[in-house]
Amino acid sequence: MIAMLRCFECARNETVEESVAICIMCGKGLCMGHAHRIDLPIWEGGYPAPVRILKKGLPRFVCSDCGNILLPGSCE
Ligand SMILES: [Zn+2]
Ligand SMILES: [Zn+2]
Repeated sequence: MIAMLRCFECARNETVEESVAICIMCGKGLCMGHAHRIDLPIWEGGYPAPVRILKKGLPRFVCSDCGNILLPGSCE
């Protein structure tokens, strides 16, 4: 059996929503409503974030917390 991965942000609001993406920064599960797609240049060494596992061309989704850290003001 595979457990459904729930949206962390919805769980915070005491609702249950299946996640469709995972925050690349903190690993939270995110539903469509809470996943923020960000467009960032390819990260290389020196960036203060654990993103070395990123592969070129993958969509990059982050939660609102991490989105605002990476691109201040980009997420509500
Ligand atoms: Zn959600
Ligand atoms: Zn996050």
